[in-house]
Amino acid sequence: MAEATPQRTRSDPSSLPPRALTRRALSRAEAGKALSVDEAEGLIAARGQDLDRLMLVASGLRELGHGSTITYSRKVFIPLTMLCRDHCHYCTFAKPPAKLERPFLSLEEVVAIAEAGRALGCKEALFTLGDRPEERYPVAREWLAERGYSGSSRRPDCCRI
Ligand code: SF4
Repeated sequence: MAEATPQRTRSDPSSLPPRALTRRALSRAEAGKALSVDEAEGLIAARGQDLDRLMLVASGLRELGHGSTITYSRKVFIPLTMLCRDHCHYCTFAKPPAKLERPFLSLEEVVAIAEAGRALGCKEALFTLGDRPEERYPVAREWLAERGYSGSSRRPDCCRI
């Protein structure tokens, strides 16, 4: 049995020309109405005066929900290792072994960075590391094996801090 195909009609907002859809979405947002997915997508095309209207509505909604409150988390980043088996082209974190003094931070270095962060008012520590560098770099494999670790995600010393 054939399935019925939904028909788009003139009253269907997604059938509107892009600019009309943008303006319809803006009008509804300004009136405090919820937007459909099509209308929300239509806002992406806002330019010029439409973009000014969109920013005004967005600013008003932000004020309504959060006022001028800005929050942030004071945390210190602790790069357990900057080696990574992957090659993500956008990555600004991972480095090859030649650019690092050691493949992994020692426990003492981890504690020193954490203490320095605390002295500067940090309340949280964020451990960062690449993905299983031991699968790509022999130096990482050897460093872990010498210390009895089976993998970079199995460093119980850092979990105990
Ligand atoms: S650290 Fe993360 S983003 Fe960078 S290469 Fe590795 S997986 Fe990709």
